[in-house]
Amino acid sequence: MKLDYSEKLFEQAQKFIPGGVNSPVRAFKAVGGTPLFIKRGLGSRILDVDGNEYIDFVGSWGPHIFGHLPRFVKSALIEQLENGTSFGAPTIQEVRLAQLICEMVPSIEMVRLVNSGTEATMSAIRLARAYTKREKIIKFAGCYHGHFDGFLVSAGSGALTFGVPSSPGVTTSVAKDTLIARYNDIDSVRLLIEENPDQIAAIIVEPVAGNMGVVPPKQNFLSALRKICTENNILLIFDEVITGFRLSNGGAQKIYGVLPDLTALGKIIGGGLPVGAFGGKREIMELLSPIGPVYQAGTLSGNPLAVSAGLAVLKFIQDNPTIYTSLEQKASLLEEGIKENLKRLGLNYSLNRVGSMMTLFFTDKEVVDLETAMTSDTNLYAKYFHKMLERGIYLPCSQFEAFFVSYSHTEEDLKYFLKTQFEVLKEVAK
Ligand SMILES: *Cc1c(COP(=O)(O)O)cnc(C)c1O
Repeated sequence: MKLDYSEKLFEQAQKFIPGGVNSPVRAFKAVGGTPLFIKRGLGSRILDVDGNEYIDFVGSWGPHIFGHLPRFVKSALIEQLENGTSFGAPTIQEVRLAQLICEMVPSIEMVRLVNSGTEATMSAIRLARAYTKREKIIKFAGCYHGHFDGFLVSAGSGALTFGVPSSPGVTTSVAKDTLIARYNDIDSVRLLIEENPDQIAAIIVEPVAGNMGVVPPKQNFLSALRKICTENNILLIFDEVITGFRLSNGGAQKIYGVLPDLTALGKIIGGGLPVGAFGGKREIMELLSPIGPVYQAGTLSGNPLAVSAGLAVLKFIQDNPTIYTSLEQKASLLEEGIKENLKRLGLNYSLNRVGSMMTLFFTDKEVVDLETAMTSDTNLYAKYFHKMLERGIYLPCSQFEAFFVSYSHTEEDLKYFLKTQFEVLKEVAK
């Protein structure tokens, strides 16, 4: 596999962009080597600048549920482009997108559009603090909610100590307002609430974790969170930036039947353009400026081009509810095949899947939280990643990310994946 042009571009990139990338995970740090510079994507395939083609299982880290450049997104974008790209004034499309989101996501009565998932979660937290008049939040170790200061916090040493900054530049005073619980462990949440009575504004959670690799919620974990929040006047925030419109036409909350007070969305609702959104109960959302006192704004928020792409995607989903059945079939074919590969090779790795998101953890342990995820052999993952890449399969460049099946993956794509995976695992796993 020739990567000359990617290598040359990466060298140039590192002179002008820190680390050569505009978002760290792209740099291949966790697996080594040179990131591919991508030139084009269509359906399940991407093409790099050296002319190598790959079957893509990253899907831009989540947005491309229909694969690259579905025709309805392309035509919506072209149509909008003819009319201009941004006005800083209301447009028809943003009303339609907001209306669709409210109709489709069970707990959302009102929604505000922003430009990224980070903005969505950050704004939801501000709103929750204003609504409850409390300052602390609880998040779970291993869940990612974007790069807002209050989320770049790790657990302190003891279970009950304050959070500590996980990045320089985050102040200790910000970090102490973020408490860290253990995913799938309701007792860890209960303890934090007891230690901080009437001080917790919100609990934020990925209803299916995707950012420590895929970790499903244990049975009743989400409903127990709902209950504990209601009992303690704490707002429950679902970060559905990945799961929204990936797991169903109403997100994870629809399939698990648990309704949060606020929901953060992103990725799929932008159809591959930069969009985020947060929404929830009317009573809470109406605290937002300009009708309420909580300030939140954005020059390009509800951008017509981005919103047109997102609207095309959501309309397609609304008109074709069977896409989730088809995604489930494709993803379960893959799951069965991977399990078969592991069995034939006598390997005991953990495979977690919910709908079209999954992670093969290189560990024998069942992965239920960050601690168990961290038992994975990341060196082995790096070898696996590179061998798969050489054979034309583009996987996430980190063990701790989800890989995604899209509507555009064909049965041949999946069979090729399975055949290749068998050969690669046979080579690298000993
Ligand atoms: C990607 C992601 C975010 C952040 O979204 P950006 O658009 O990258 O800011 C937040 N939460 C979750 C669960 C995500 O996967």
